[in-house]
Amino acid sequence: MAGRRLSQQQKRRIQQSQAVVDLKDENNHSGLVISHRGGEVEVEPLDNDQANLQCNLRANLGSIVSGDRVVYQQTEQEAIIIAIQPRDNLLQRVDGFGQVKAVAANVTQLIICLSVEPQPNLFLLDQYLLSAEQQDIEALIVLNKIDLVDDIDSDPFDLEKIYQPLGYQILYTSIKDHYHIEQLQQYCSGHTNLISGVSGVGKSSLTQVILPDEEIRIGEISESSKEGRHTTRTSRLYHLPLGGDLIDTPGVRGFNPVVDPHISIAAGFREIDAASQHCKFSNCKHLNEPKCAVISAVETGEIDSGRYQNYLKLLEANS
Ligand code: GDP
Ligand code: ZN
Repeated sequence: MAGRRLSQQQKRRIQQSQAVVDLKDENNHSGLVISHRGGEVEVEPLDNDQANLQCNLRANLGSIVSGDRVVYQQTEQEAIIIAIQPRDNLLQRVDGFGQVKAVAANVTQLIICLSVEPQPNLFLLDQYLLSAEQQDIEALIVLNKIDLVDDIDSDPFDLEKIYQPLGYQILYTSIKDHYHIEQLQQYCSGHTNLISGVSGVGKSSLTQVILPDEEIRIGEISESSKEGRHTTRTSRLYHLPLGGDLIDTPGVRGFNPVVDPHISIAAGFREIDAASQHCKFSNCKHLNEPKCAVISAVETGEIDSGRYQNYLKLLEANS
């Protein structure tokens, strides 16, 4: 707990240091973090046409990740980041030692990659969707390897039936037939994207078609901590040909999303959030309370019972 309190204090200090940085001061420049490795941060200047800079970090800034917008100062000897600009969001994961690690900042679209084989895990999908809702990030559900299905119109795994009425976009793709790859590129444009999903669903393959000029390693097992291997490649923000960015996070593309316990879980389930307006009690958790509109909607089939079960599981895991 002491460690946690300290980090809260550190956060406050960082926020204070953010507040005093004046971008009108001509020594201060704004930049976009492209990558961060071992204390060296590659920054793209946002207020001039200079080439990218390797920046050092002022002490006590906290973690800096791809997608961060920063303020830096440049002397003849060095460029140094003096502040992180306020973030729209910060995606985090839990590492193999139970530590929360920042993955990327200011993401606007989370691409949740599922596949026909291995089959989708809808509990994990709902966890990603919850995390995206909590962070105010749009979510795009991609079902890859659709070439392995005989009849696409059969709505494999009921993804369209369950998720389309909630307002989520679902895209079926195949690397093999290049099916819907152009649509995927279009959906990515104008966003800062991040691809996530379990190992083997085709994230590296999709990243490669989105970034044809980069060399992405396909079929690696290094994501899996079980294998005891760690990739040495570092996360990086790429600009996309059609506009927008992709933050590629090799090695942690399969991250488990962190659910924020301070934000209501029900608010991250769109249909539960909507139905809860009609619950008798304003603090209804939709467990077994009388006159619960959510439970009624599950009983009538208006709310998918699988989604409701996943809500209950996440509620229990985070209470
Ligand atoms: P990642 O672990 O999610 O990054 O998955 P990879 O991109 O490494 O792909 C895992 C395996 O699935 C590789 O052998 C790929 O060649 C294969 N794969 C990827 N996309 C497709 C696809 O659309 N169809 C089929 N049939 N195989 C695919
Ligand atoms: Zn209720």
